[in-house]
Amino acid sequence: MKWSIKIGRFAGIDVYMHFTFLLLISWVALLHWRQSQSVAAAVAGVLFILMVFLCVVLHEYGHALTARRYGIQTRDIIARNVGPQIGGPVDHG
Ligand SMILES: [Zn+2]
Repeated sequence: MKWSIKIGRFAGIDVYMHFTFLLLISWVALLHWRQSQSVAAAVAGVLFILMVFLCVVLHEYGHALTARRYGIQTRDIIARNVGPQIGGPVDHG
């Protein structure tokens, strides 16, 4: 995946984080640090965004695993700041 880093592979589906999501995390950290001049606040802001990221990925797994039940394979899930994307179906050759 261009401009994405692989987070892992779960249930046979690759999970990627797009570069734009890293920009969002950086922006949130900067905003929190500027408001409070506190590293703890910046870390808390980043952790909050990462928890949102986790919820979005779990939501997309709901789609992907439901699709699998109906015979549609999912290649990957990419988290971006403009919304996630599910790639598929997989070509079984
Ligand atoms: Zn959905």
